[in-house]
Amino acid sequence: MAKDKDYKRLIAKNRWLQLRKAKLTANPLCERCKENGITKEAEEVHHIVPVEDGLTPREKETLMYDFGNLRSLCHDCHVLTHTEMGRSGKAQAKRHAKAQLERFCKKFLLCLILLKMLKGAVIF
Ligand SMILES: [Zn+2]
Repeated sequence: MAKDKDYKRLIAKNRWLQLRKAKLTANPLCERCKENGITKEAEEVHHIVPVEDGLTPREKETLMYDFGNLRSLCHDCHVLTHTEMGRSGKAQAKRHAKAQLERFCKKFLLCLILLKMLKGAVIF
């Protein structure tokens, strides 16, 4: 998955390094291996909802630093998880585009309503 500039900016921060460390301290074992009855040390921290799914820089920041959005994984499970996500990459891109369109339409509709109200105020 291509990482955008917001992702790169956020992942480079000390805040991320601290949160990553806290997550690995709280969950030192790979959570995916654990579900399969395997005990393996976690080396990496995965974002369950991808940071890039955020529509604004603020949303991306929330996803990046949300402790509940993190999963401790071993390297193999991290690669596997991303491979699986990549397979549904097209569906994800579609969801993302739809969410952006919906947001735009809501703003646009609100403008239309306000405009009508203003016009109404002038008429009455
Ligand atoms: Zn694992």
